[in-house]
Amino acid sequence: MSTTDYDTPRTTDNDVQAESLEQLQTRREPPAGLSDLEELDPELLELPGADLSGETLTVAVLPKQADEFTCTRCFLVQHRTRQARADMCQDCI
Ligand SMILES: [Zn+2]
Repeated sequence: MSTTDYDTPRTTDNDVQAESLEQLQTRREPPAGLSDLEELDPELLELPGADLSGETLTVAVLPKQADEFTCTRCFLVQHRTRQARADMCQDCI
């Protein structure tokens, strides 16, 4: 762990990234029902080694286990120990 002084103003990679995002938000026209991601520069969205689309699909296809239930509010499949009341998880009651 390094002892970084966050009060010291200096140009870091984080600063550059923040400026880029700010420019995008400023020049971006409000999309009508479209995803904001389509308006952004693909280079900024590229995360090496992080292919989340496949992971999301796998989770969605997973069958519900016997000791799991589907929350009727957030529609997440949760373990029975997370079921707080009726068919709602502890996060939703
Ligand atoms: Zn829930």
